[in-house]
Amino acid sequence: MHKQAQRKTAGAHRKQSVSSNAKSRIALVAVATGAVSTAGAGGAAAAHATHPAPSAEARSETPDYTLVADSAAPVIGSSEAPQILNIAEFKPIDNLAEQLNKAIQYNAERIAADLAARAPKSSAPAQGTLTSTFGARWGTLHAGVDIANALGTAITAVEDGTVIDAGPASGFGQWVRIRHADGTVTVYGHMETIEVAVGQQVSAGQRIAGMGSRGFSTGVHVHFEVHPNGGGAIDPLPWLAERGIFL
Ligand SMILES: [Zn+2]
Repeated sequence: MHKQAQRKTAGAHRKQSVSSNAKSRIALVAVATGAVSTAGAGGAAAAHATHPAPSAEARSETPDYTLVADSAAPVIGSSEAPQILNIAEFKPIDNLAEQLNKAIQYNAERIAADLAARAPKSSAPAQGTLTSTFGARWGTLHAGVDIANALGTAITAVEDGTVIDAGPASGFGQWVRIRHADGTVTVYGHMETIEVAVGQQVSAGQRIAGMGSRGFSTGVHVHFEVHPNGGGAIDPLPWLAERGIFL
């Protein structure tokens, strides 16, 4: 009775063992089929299907598992791993370039806005010594002011405007005339070099010429005139003073 029970138990245990083995085989095949179909490896599926597994479950299961793992792993690994790497490397580079461009653009806009905000509305025609003022001189009207300095000293536009003359002119040797937004025309004379062209837009403080002594001149200086509405010349000193420029 005791022995029988033991045998029964042993038999029942063996039965259970077999059935659990069969379950695990079914499960393994399902896993293997899934893995193969996912990988799309026809060769591996064929090898698995033709592989006979009638006896010795432990031996047949192990090669099956190994076969699937060996055939599927390289396919997945070689095709997917580099793609993941590429995406991971490419996205940051694209973003970096975009962000750098945005930063550069933003910075350029900021600098432009800052320069515009700080740009002078008015500027002296040149730095130097006021050697002659507006008025009667040598029996004629001196229609502007003279500012003397070294040859080549910057002559600058007093306000934003458009160049309407740039070249030789009687008495001036050479001149530059600029028309401003309110119609005022400013005149610069005797320059050695002219660095703007007719039609060019210039801004206040922008270098337009290099100081010289051409034409009716006794030394290196700029002769500067102001013509409201393009009419007769007025004394430039009060006009400049109204704009915060004192020579
Ligand atoms: Zn003069």
